[in-house]
Amino acid sequence: MERHFNLVIIGAGPAGCTASLYASRAGLSTLLLDNGAPGGKLIKTFEIANYPGVPTQSGVDLAMKMFEQATSFGALYEYGDVMEVTEDKVVKLSDGQEIKADAIILATGTKERLLHIPGEQENIGRGVSFCAVCDGAFFKDKDVVVIGGGNSALEESLYLTKFANVTIVIRRDVFRAEKSIQEQVESNDKIKIIKKHIPKEILSENGKVSGIVLENVDTKETQILSCSGIFPYVGQDPMTQSIQKLGICDQRGYVIVDNNMETKIKGIYAAGDVIQKDLRQVVTATNDGAIAAQHIFHELSK
Ligand code: NAP
Repeated sequence: MERHFNLVIIGAGPAGCTASLYASRAGLSTLLLDNGAPGGKLIKTFEIANYPGVPTQSGVDLAMKMFEQATSFGALYEYGDVMEVTEDKVVKLSDGQEIKADAIILATGTKERLLHIPGEQENIGRGVSFCAVCDGAFFKDKDVVVIGGGNSALEESLYLTKFANVTIVIRRDVFRAEKSIQEQVESNDKIKIIKKHIPKEILSENGKVSGIVLENVDTKETQILSCSGIFPYVGQDPMTQSIQKLGICDQRGYVIVDNNMETKIKGIYAAGDVIQKDLRQVVTATNDGAIAAQHIFHELSK
């Protein structure tokens, strides 16, 4: 039998958890779905230092607190691998279930972008990792390379210095990350920085990463850097596979919403990193989730 909820939220990161908290407190029957551990990108983040009112703490701890609160007012949390969301608000899961909702919030976030260079795909889990928090400890006293100059690359590089010697490779001669993180990186003697180089190939020996080929963007000269681990942090892509047919995304794949977080399809909302916006932070994700849930409550109360 097809199940029915006032609200189905897809994705249990900060946006989804906050929407779940607001909707269930307001009395909406709420189902929170995720196809992985709850917490979204928070559980892959070493420390969060910019969530107001919460002194610096581990991403996992903050995620667990958000998740507990999200389900403490009656919202149901389930594993769910969502294949498709339809215009008439049916959520189709990979196990064949179809769940009907009065409203849906897509809070699926983003996934790490690949480098798309030879040697990357086959070495994922063999030295190539997209999660310093998960895999950093495997590289104790080893040399690792972080690719990228954004907040993620620099924050995770700082975390990796607990275990490894880190070389950060950036393609320009300036970082994209916030100044305060740059300063910490530049003053850390376990971090070396190589500017104006791009990764060309990941090398391996005996089934494990052994190095990376870098190309100088000006001279096109190449060099091999020996290392055991490679952490690409070169940006994110939105996770919107389940809504591809709805035509609600911009050219880069981010969901277009109005001020209420509603898409052009009535009753279908999006919140958090997956939407088109300038500032992707935990605090903006929770903000989006609250706005979406509150608007849904008002619409369904009419
Ligand atoms: P990002 O800010 O887009 O940075 C991506 C980095 O990768 C840039 O330095 C970029 O270089 C580089 N890059 C992209 N493609 C590359 C390629 N093919 N080869 C080599 N380098 C490449 O991505 P992010 O760090 O994942 O952050 C995503 C969003 O989350 C941002 O809005 C960020 O501010 C936010 N965030 C915030 C925090 C925080 O506030 N604590 C923490 C993490 C993330 P160029 O600079 O040359 O383009």
